[in-house]
Amino acid sequence: MSEGWVARCVEERRVDLHCHTNVSDGTLTPTQLVELAARKGLAAIAITDHDVLGALPEAKLAGDRLGVEIVPGVELSTTHGGIADLHLLGYFVDPDEPRLATRLATFRAVRAARKGRIIDKLRELGVDVREDELPDAESIGRPHIARLLVEKGIVKSIQEAFDVYLAEGKPANVPKARIEAAEAIALVHGAGGVAVLAHPGLVKDGLGLRAASELVAAGLDGIEVEHSKHDSDTRRRLRELCQKHGLVETGGSDFHGENKPDVDLGYGHGGNVRVTTATLEALRARAALRRG
Ligand code: AMP
Ligand code: FE
Ligand code: FE
Ligand code: ZN
Repeated sequence: MSEGWVARCVEERRVDLHCHTNVSDGTLTPTQLVELAARKGLAAIAITDHDVLGALPEAKLAGDRLGVEIVPGVELSTTHGGIADLHLLGYFVDPDEPRLATRLATFRAVRAARKGRIIDKLRELGVDVREDELPDAESIGRPHIARLLVEKGIVKSIQEAFDVYLAEGKPANVPKARIEAAEAIALVHGAGGVAVLAHPGLVKDGLGLRAASELVAAGLDGIEVEHSKHDSDTRRRLRELCQKHGLVETGGSDFHGENKPDVDLGYGHGGNVRVTTATLEALRARAALRRG
């Protein structure tokens, strides 16, 4: 076995750069998530909970025990040029950086208030749910409410809860606090991280691809190319964009445990996601460059 062969194997170990714990809207605890990553042979995972970095201390303990690197990450809900909800991932951010920490706390406070408003709207629609039936996650989101509706037998699936009640334009939808995408990129950079546009292929009318080009000037570092819900044409177009603008091609499954039962950690939907340590190293290098 040559040294080159060994080096290549190390280089090509699988990672997952987009996953959620029950600190936001995933269903596994940080420890359970890391244990699953270890069972699947992943070299690293980036935990990218919505508006919260609270999973990190517990995840790092489990990661040290099981030999899985934990990359600090966060997923922010932003707006840009008429797009109501454009998701941005921050990687390698310092959880103690005060401006980011304060902003995240504000977003979570708005989520906590929004939860009650969504419950009120559901009750007005005749749905029998109460706020005290929800779990007290640090960062509460619509999937928690969707799950409650499933558990109570009001809908058959999380997807049905979104389609009937919770999605944008549906009767129990309440918007979150959002930040301009360019401002979110600056916030991530200020916390020592790099900013990656999450799943632009999920934005309607191809607006996510346009946003990706427009955000290059604001300092965007990468685009999530591999994602459970990206088709091959979207991936090809996103790869071209990355090459054109010198961005890192990243990816992740967007694992949420039982809240997205068709998405497998490290593998996506039916094995349609494959990201390796080479991508992680490209992001790490870019973060080091940004910090100067
Ligand atoms: P929230 O943070 O409360 O806005 O909820 C965002 C989460 O809800 C994301 O993780 C999505 O996976 C999920 N979600 C948003 N829109 C939909 C939809 N139309 N159908 C299913 N899940 C959705
Ligand atoms: Fe989510
Ligand atoms: Fe997202
Ligand atoms: Zn996500």
